[in-house]
Parts: sequence; C-alpha cells; structure tokens
Amino acid sequence: MDRILRIDMGADSGPKAYETPVGSYAGMGGRGMTSAIVSAEVPPLCHPLGGSNKLVIAPGLLSGTAAAMSGRISVGCKSPLTGTIKEANAGGQPSQMLARLGYAAIVLEGKPKDDTLYKVYINKDGVKIFPDDSLKMLGNYDLIDKIKSEYGEKVSCISIGQAGEMKMGNSSVAFTDMEMRPTRHAGRGGCGAVMGSKHVKVIVIDDSGAKMRRPKDPEKFKEANKRFVEGLKQHSITGGSLPAYGTAGVANIINEAGSFPTHNFQWGRFDQCSKISGETQAELEVSRGGVATHGCHRGCVIRCSGTYMNKDGQFLTKQPEYETIWAHGGNCGISDLDAIATLDRLDDDYGLDTIEMGATIAVAMEAGLARFGDAEAAINLVKEVGKGTYLGRILGSGAEVTGRVFGVERVPVVKGQALPAYDPRGIQGIGVTYATSPMGADHTAGYAVAANVYKVGGSLDRRKPEGQVELSRSLQIATAAVDSTGMCLFIIFACLDQPETYQAFLDLFNSFYGLNLDIEGMMELGKKVLAMERDFNIRAGFTPQHDRLPEFFYEEPLPPHNLTFLVKDEELDTLFNW
Ligand code: SF4
Repeated sequence: MDRILRIDMGADSGPKAYETPVGSYAGMGGRGMTSAIVSAEVPPLCHPLGGSNKLVIAPGLLSGTAAAMSGRISVGCKSPLTGTIKEANAGGQPSQMLARLGYAAIVLEGKPKDDTLYKVYINKDGVKIFPDDSLKMLGNYDLIDKIKSEYGEKVSCISIGQAGEMKMGNSSVAFTDMEMRPTRHAGRGGCGAVMGSKHVKVIVIDDSGAKMRRPKDPEKFKEANKRFVEGLKQHSITGGSLPAYGTAGVANIINEAGSFPTHNFQWGRFDQCSKISGETQAELEVSRGGVATHGCHRGCVIRCSGTYMNKDGQFLTKQPEYETIWAHGGNCGISDLDAIATLDRLDDDYGLDTIEMGATIAVAMEAGLARFGDAEAAINLVKEVGKGTYLGRILGSGAEVTGRVFGVERVPVVKGQALPAYDPRGIQGIGVTYATSPMGADHTAGYAVAANVYKVGGSLDRRKPEGQVELSRSLQIATAAVDSTGMCLFIIFACLDQPETYQAFLDLFNSFYGLNLDIEGMMELGKKVLAMERDFNIRAGFTPQHDRLPEFFYEEPLPPHNLTFLVKDEELDTLFNW
C-alpha cells in the first residue's frame, strides 16, 4: 500500500489517472488517510459539489492482510450534508482488494466538463476509465447485475445509485459484499453526492493475481491473530449477542432504558419494539431460509449481519441494522419488519443512508405528510426520492432541509446530520459525542452507550452529566485510531473489557509493521486524526456554538423518565482539550 491512485475527472482531454507515492501520508490508513488528504488538499470553504472537493476512498492500515476483521473502508470528503470534513465507514469486499493491489487510497479530483457518466476499472495492470451513459440513473442492484454480466462475480464494486447521481445531501457510496450485492454503504454525510459530482458511477476492482499483504513478522502476526480471534469469540457481545441477533439485538435494551427515540424523538419507548427487535428479526430470517449470522466481508469473525428473505423465501435485503429498524421503524411508529426491510432495500438501491432517511421521514410525518405508523406511506415517500420528484429531492436532502421546508421545529440534527438511534436525554454520554464529533451527530464516533448502558469499558450513570465528556473524549480518540486500521469498530467491546484482547490487537499491528506501539501510541494516532478533522472544521467556519444539540433536547423532557440533556456547554467545549 505505497501508492495513491488519483483520477482527475476534470482534465482537459478527459478523465486522467495517475499515481503518486504515499509520501507525507505514510503511516495513515482508513479514516486517518481520508482525513489527512481532505484536510491538506481540500479548501475548507469550497463548495462540496465543486471541482475543488475530493472524494477519498481508503482501506485501513491492516486491510488486505490475514488479520481478522480488517476489511473496513473509509470514504472522506467535505460533506454536502454537514459542510464539515467527513469520514463514512463501510464493510464489503473492496477494502481488502484495493489494499492487495497496493493502493493506500483512491482520490477522485476535479469535475468533468460535460454530463458524461464514467465507469472505472482497476486491476493489477492499472486503471481504465470508460464513458458509459448506459449506466445513468440505474439503481445499485441493476447496476451491479450489469457489472456482473460484464466482469463476472469475482470483482467488487464501489458505486452510487440515483441519489448520488442527483447529488442529494443524503446519498451514500455502496460497496459490494461477499455475494456481490450492493448492501454495504458508507452512508453518512452525503459522500455519494460528491462521487456523483465527479460523474463516477462505479469503480470495479479486480484483484486477481494480487497477493495477500505480508507481515514483517509472520509468526508473531499469526499467533497474535489467533489470540485476537479467541478474545473476540469469548466476549459476550462480540461472541454472543452480535452474531446471534446482529446490531438490532440492542433494541429491547435501549427501549427498556427509555432511550429508543420514537415518533420523531417525542418519546423514549416504543410500545411495539419487541416486534422489530433483533431476536424477532433473527427468528424470522431463519424461518424463511435466510441466515442471522453472516459477515459483511471475508475475514469477519464476529458476523453481526444476516440475510433477510421476503415472504416467498427470496432475498430481499441484508439484515437491517439496529439503526435501520429504529429509523424506519420506531422513529416512524412502524412495527412491520417486512416494511422496514423493503425500506432498507430501497435505500440500498437508490444509495441512501438509512439513518438520515428514517429521521427525514419522521420529520415529514411530524409535518403531516403521512401518519406515524403508516408503512405504505413511508415506502411511497422514499420512492419519491428515487424518482427525483420535487418532494423526493427535498426528502433526499436530509432531515434538516425537510424540517426547514415544512416548518418543523423538532428536527434532530447536529451540524446538519440526523441523530442516530439513542436519545441523548436518556444516554447523556452519547449526547456529548453527537454534539462534539467533527462529523456531526454520529454514534460510531464515540460509542458512549457502551459504558452508559451495557457497562462495557467501565460504568457511568447514563442519566447524569458527570464524567460523560471524559468518557466521550477517550472513546472518540480510540475510535479515530481503530477507524484508521481498517478494523471493524465492534472489536472495541472486547478490547475495552479484556486487556489481553487489546494486547493481541496491538501485537497484530506491531508484528505487521515491525513497530512497538503501546496503548498510548495508538491513542496518539487517534488524537492526530481528530486534530486534523477539528482543524479543517474550524477553517470551514465551525465554532464551539456548532457543538450543541438542538434546543428541544434541553427543553422537552423525554418520557417515560422525563429527562433532558444536562451536559453544560462549557463542559462540551473542553472535549478537545487533551
Ligand atoms: S462485525 Fe458486523 S459490521 Fe463488523 S465487520 Fe463483521 S459483519 Fe461487518
């Protein structure tokens, strides 16, 4: 991984690929790499859809190796949704393949001079760029079928659906999974719109003939990987609930805690939560011939995903995540799993982030565009987005724009990005992360729910403000480091609770690179990444006043526990003091 592949889409004679050495970006991968390139090369005040913005796609530092869990990939840019720096993270096959081809990143630069749409093909011999207008306005599923008929099923793809082509603020970048389906999405922040602005519909990656990346010390690496996998398997979350019930396994727990945002964050408990819980979903999947334990990429040993079949036993979508069963479910008052799975499929096909889309539909419901609980109406609203009608373009721009257009006051966004599935009034620690993350509201940026609710990595009263800033700070730092390695963030549960698993992870990293990094060294990497991101945002005009939750979280008590968000602004402003 010593090269960066750059594609200048605005070159005078048409798109032009060239390579540069990793150079000053050496030591960076995944989120570290995307944020370093965006921070150094993108003017912070540029228009996100203009030629000065760049879309950076980077495998992690351990991607392309035999390390378990190492196939996550980062997508970075200046976000059209938030205006901040953005890193969105996904699974799928492209990360391992790109890393094995030797690429530390792909950077899409410039802007084409006409409307031509392009397909990029990458293999060990280099890069080819084809104009291909036959791909215009295809959904991700039809697109991938077309690519399969041309290149077979051993390649992998990075693509956008109609939403990305229409440059909507809520458009995702899709990554194909092990079955060559476009089910894995870098969803947050509208990265798909930036790919659309570069007129790149799909990047096809063919790694045939490329070799697995070799560690500096193969014996130590193999032995560390074994200990790491054993540690993941023995932890109750990574070896228990995640493989059994997927991420939706937490639905009943969060609902019981009174922090499951319901009817656009009006309540913290959904009376029909058990109908859409991970337990119910897993049972239904298996009864229809699907699976409830499946990896999103080769090498995942936790396997928190699954396959969701329709009533006829045909594949409909991958197992909807917790965020999806919440966003399209409880938050909209919907308790029909088939409807939620249909919405998930539509989101994946059009290329939309399910969190932003569900939050947007809930805001639209509050505005009176549909009744809470009306699944058919929700499906029709999402179809408007795919068709690109005027209404669809408003909804596809996200919750903030939709709230503004329809005059809704209760709009759950920070820096323009919708809050995920944990109400910060009931789980104060995650509120700190939502408010302060350079990404806008993002639960994965510092998952304080772990210590606030599950008592993983410590224990802190979720209803009280004390200690939440310190908790969020250390989690945000650790997350920025893990996101740079290409490891799935879920390893953090076992690493926080089991020092020997954390050590195995460090040994894995050190034996691969011939380093001697300890926990502090890993945290230094995380701090460096966060500092770059924060600096970009300051240069883009963001101030501490943007590090706040919407007013209603401070003013409207959340039933059933009638809590408000209590962490003071002055405390939030200390988060980046280290
Ligand atoms: S644990 Fe889940 S999200 Fe993480 S790599 Fe495995 S399947 Fe993907």
